[in-house]
Amino acid sequence: MLLAIIIGLIFDNVAIMLAIALAGYLGWMLHNLRHLWRWLIKGKKYAPPSSFGIWGDVFTEIYRLQKRNKKRQKRLVNLLNRFRETTEAMPDGVVVMQANGTIEWWNEIGGKLLDLKYPHDVGQRVTNLVRNPQFQKFYDKADVDERFVFPAPGDGNKIISIRITPYGQDQSLLMARDVTLIERVEQIRRDFVANISHELRTPLTVMTGFLEAMASDEGIDEQSRKRSIELMQQQSKRMYRLVEDLMLLSRLENEQKPVKHEVVHVPQMLLTLKEEAQVISGERAHSIHVEADNDLLIYGDAKELDSAFSNLIINAVNYTPDKGSITVKWFKDDAGAHLAISDTGIGIPRHHLARITERFYRVDVARSRETGGSGLGLAIVKHALNRHNATLSIDSEVGAGSTFTCNFPRDAIVDEADERAAS
Ligand code: ADP
Repeated sequence: MLLAIIIGLIFDNVAIMLAIALAGYLGWMLHNLRHLWRWLIKGKKYAPPSSFGIWGDVFTEIYRLQKRNKKRQKRLVNLLNRFRETTEAMPDGVVVMQANGTIEWWNEIGGKLLDLKYPHDVGQRVTNLVRNPQFQKFYDKADVDERFVFPAPGDGNKIISIRITPYGQDQSLLMARDVTLIERVEQIRRDFVANISHELRTPLTVMTGFLEAMASDEGIDEQSRKRSIELMQQQSKRMYRLVEDLMLLSRLENEQKPVKHEVVHVPQMLLTLKEEAQVISGERAHSIHVEADNDLLIYGDAKELDSAFSNLIINAVNYTPDKGSITVKWFKDDAGAHLAISDTGIGIPRHHLARITERFYRVDVARSRETGGSGLGLAIVKHALNRHNATLSIDSEVGAGSTFTCNFPRDAIVDEADERAAS
């Protein structure tokens, strides 16, 4: 402008020269402004337009700001991604909700457990999606310490426990945890306590009854007194057997030590078990046969195997009508060693087979009690075999009989050459 004024003074035309200079300056301004506008609209990826003077400074400053913003954005995106990864890695379901219960976001497990569909369920109220009258009550109560346990809407076989915690400004976090296993264990524990109480109650009631009668009636005749004592002895034996079986089962279940690696002479063991079974059968006169491969010995714990085999043979006697026949076969094949105990007894309906080895599971409770069974026999067998890496297979036909087979792996078989070398 100063230059224009000087030139104007020389040529005596200041106004025109000033106007020309101003127009030029305005043009340059507009030109830079247009560059800036074009760059801001589409050229954030490109370097800033080059200029000088104040425009140069403006461009550089904006460019610097942009770069700083980009860095910050990148940091935020990284943070968000890390948060997502963390919540995805969590074993629990997480759902982020607004104060009014509308759903904003959830992790994968949360979506699966609560059956949430993206994007349809974003913005829906959680109480509309989890259709359970008790859940509405739990939600309204808004107690941070309380948990709501119910079948997962996304998978009826799963039980989930929900907790809602408020956070931030008017937001809340719903956490859903799969508690199926804990609930199942809890149920087993409850059933177990109920079963034991029931098992002990019957003999105790009988004994208390007799004792009261004996205490109040002085003139009880000798025959009744004898009979009462006999019955009480029977009941106390039953309780004793129950406690023994429970202790054995708990030992087998809790035993951390690997099973013993002693040579078990199964054929000899079977002969002893046969004699015991014959005594138990008594007047019921079952015919019991043992067909054993006398050279077939296995590694294992003789005491545990004796309990398992004895339970199976005694069951065969108990659940086979008088004069029925029981065959015990001990043999090996390519798969390993097998003990098959077959009877011509009452058999087991197919639908019971899957649960028959559970503790206290019986097909006919009255019949099992009659035979003095504790309902723990097959559970003991299963655990003892498990500890030997062996399995139990059951084949049964109602009215025709059953075959219980213990299958031992090949590496359980004692190699005679090895044994000779060792001795
Ligand atoms: P229990 O003490 O009642 O015999 P177990 O665990 O040994 O308990 O057996 C569970 C149930 O399996 C028995 O109550 C009976 O109903 C059935 N069971 C077991 N062995 C036989 C068999 N050889 N024949 C028919 N039913 C059997």
